[in-house]
Amino acid sequence: MELTSSIPVIQNLVYIFSSILFILGIKMLGKESTAVKGNFLSAIAMLLAVLVTTLSLDINLLTILVAILIGASVGSLIALKVKMTAIPEMVALFNGFGGLASFFIAWSQYSEPNINLFQTVIVMLTVYIGGLTFSGSLIAYGKLAEKIKLGKGSLLTNIFISAFYLSLLMLVFVLIDPVFFNFLDNQPTLFYVFLSFTILAGLGFVLPIGGGDMPVVISLLNSLSGIAAAFAGLLLLNNVLIVAGSLVGASGLILTVIMAKAMNRTIGNILFVGYASSSSTASGKDQGEVKPINTEDAFLILENASSVLIVPGYGMAVAQAQHVVRELGELMEENGTDVKYGIHPVAGRMPGHMNVLLAEANVSYDLLLEPEDINPAMDTYDVAIVIGANDVVNPSATEEPGSPIYGMPIIEVHNAKTVFVLKRSMSSGFAGVQNPLFFKDNTRMLFGDAKESISGVVSEFKD
Ligand code: NDP
Repeated sequence: MELTSSIPVIQNLVYIFSSILFILGIKMLGKESTAVKGNFLSAIAMLLAVLVTTLSLDINLLTILVAILIGASVGSLIALKVKMTAIPEMVALFNGFGGLASFFIAWSQYSEPNINLFQTVIVMLTVYIGGLTFSGSLIAYGKLAEKIKLGKGSLLTNIFISAFYLSLLMLVFVLIDPVFFNFLDNQPTLFYVFLSFTILAGLGFVLPIGGGDMPVVISLLNSLSGIAAAFAGLLLLNNVLIVAGSLVGASGLILTVIMAKAMNRTIGNILFVGYASSSSTASGKDQGEVKPINTEDAFLILENASSVLIVPGYGMAVAQAQHVVRELGELMEENGTDVKYGIHPVAGRMPGHMNVLLAEANVSYDLLLEPEDINPAMDTYDVAIVIGANDVVNPSATEEPGSPIYGMPIIEVHNAKTVFVLKRSMSSGFAGVQNPLFFKDNTRMLFGDAKESISGVVSEFKD
């Protein structure tokens, strides 16, 4: 057999090998102990797939190498420089660029001569999903970085929502056009109008979503970037792109369902009804006085506690307090206290955020409990320590039907005997909802940066 004729065979064998590595990699990402290895395996799989594709193409290798070099340098620089707290925003951006790549692939295929009906339909779907994912992810990035405050109800948002619905109508038209009319063949400008509307669609899709619903839309955008890549794979007849895209699409969809369940909402309700914009917990309503506490008094209570629940949230990530939190947990255990960690699925700013931080600090996985396991026994805990969490422990979710977060399952720390809330001020969390927990009789506020406050309590234990 000649070498040139064996290239497709070698290429497909490498693709199969890469696909197996992708599947193993994703499986390993499901556990903290194997996640790093899983990530590495997937990166190797991608490298193999890119190399074998590049070598088998009849194109200028230099151009490809320069593009890879630029992409790899920018990616490495971002990965090295990004702060731990900005990773959720970075993930949102990466989803967007995945969508943009598929958008460009589909656009380039549209100009190919002799594309058949099936390819035309796939081009239109890929352009639509890719464009929407790109612009939608930019908005998600802006919202996570708190650079975009625009939400439901504003005039601009309403204009973009109209553009989104118009884009759906256009999608239906461009999908049926090659079957019935072939109008696009004579009016190519219409295709460019459609391209612009796919970008506007993402703005109208994500702008009205906000508050506690963001985790769901981020998982969905992740899934859409995978689906667009799988479609792009169909266009290029590239097996590994179809497999990798389908894996991302399917796992993202599963995550979307899990996140929606964690919020006790249907996906349709999150995407098309949105969160309530007003709360019956009027900020001006007199909720009583908060009771501050200092680290010395917090230590005295913790020293005598027989069971403690630690509930981390986004503030622990901001303060990078996970290592001192683990140290405090160990000191309390040495003191005879039973210590557990309560992990809410949407705590932080990305799925699994708290698990990643606590794993980094070597907190044993066996100590982590989910809300449904903790809540029934909450009244048996002497102290619940809330570390930079706010929305995920907000009792309005269970007590106030008018609240924007009403119905969202929370960790019901207010039922513990005593609650310590560690945060810097009285400001609200990501959903922008005031938290009546701070005013409850059994709550003590330990104001300050979480790392400094915990370090203070750790010093008291050591003294
Ligand atoms: P929240 O955003 O509700 O609250 C975080 C709290 O941390 C703030 O109230 C802030 O108060 C405090 N904080 C910030 N910095 C520090 C610091 N250095 N030290 C001490 N405290 C600090 O976080 P939760 O984890 O409770 O809830 C997550 C929210 O984010 C939910 O609404 C969720 O829907 C949303 N979300 C989650 C995503 C996910 O995938 N997990 C993605 C997108 C959004 P203060 O400023 O007073 O210190």
